[in-house]
Amino acid sequence: MFIDDLAIQDTAIPQPLRPPGQQVFTRRAERLRTLAQGHAMADFLHCCAAIAQAQQACHDSLAEQAVNSTACLRDILARLHQALGQALGDGSHSAILCLLAMDDDALQALALSLRAGTAAANPALQAGLPLLGAALQVQAVISARQRDLGRLQHTESDHCPVCHAPPVASLLRRGDSGHAVRYACCSQCASEWHVTRVKCLGCGNTRQLQYRSLAHRDAEPAAANHKQPHQHRAVQEAECCDSCHGELKIVSTLLDPLAEPFADDLASLMLDMLAGEAGYGRIGVNPYFIAGDS
Ligand SMILES: [Zn+2]
Ligand SMILES: [Zn+2]
Repeated sequence: MFIDDLAIQDTAIPQPLRPPGQQVFTRRAERLRTLAQGHAMADFLHCCAAIAQAQQACHDSLAEQAVNSTACLRDILARLHQALGQALGDGSHSAILCLLAMDDDALQALALSLRAGTAAANPALQAGLPLLGAALQVQAVISARQRDLGRLQHTESDHCPVCHAPPVASLLRRGDSGHAVRYACCSQCASEWHVTRVKCLGCGNTRQLQYRSLAHRDAEPAAANHKQPHQHRAVQEAECCDSCHGELKIVSTLLDPLAEPFADDLASLMLDMLAGEAGYGRIGVNPYFIAGDS
């Protein structure tokens, strides 16, 4: 039995905000390669790993610079494009050239909608959007790491307290007292902010929740258990809300210390499909996977 299965109140105050680490993209690339082994979507996961590795190199060379301008975003996109070269398909290549040719206002407007997960479908640009999302992440991680985050007032929110982007997923970590604590992970800057263990981030509902996993796909979904809130069953689970019909992944670093929200979310897209068939829509935004992407 895990200590987290015991219904003991965690009296230690969890760290409210965890800023992104210096090697955030390398860790993600390594996790993607691990998850790709024997995976039905291995090629896709390897492609995302190559993007994450290029993001780390770009981050490292620009880490000390001011990167918030649209010109900088275009520069980061061009660097990623150059680094990945032939790894990108022809469709991505021509879409990225279109993105690089956009004027500042149009590129900025597209970037804002992509950050919010609301970019409208545009066939000419679609295949380039994951790389624009990757460039936005480099920009967001560098900006977050340059800020003094200790000054931020933390309130539990459904959006990142650092850069106001939506979460990619939530994750369980072992807190100082040994019990699991839950964080939401930002889809852009990868900062993690503390959130209630059993609660829908879409609507705040804490009661009508159920947890689905691929390991137990044929079983009845587990209901939320407030007496044992830290009980967990699989490394990757979908928290499904019967109030707003939203669904957000929970990734457990207690069950697998190398679990990483972006990578584990991508490797469990099948779980979103099954949740979708049951009537739940994704809340998490993952910039490596744009809906409608081919
Ligand atoms: Zn953020
Ligand atoms: Zn909800």
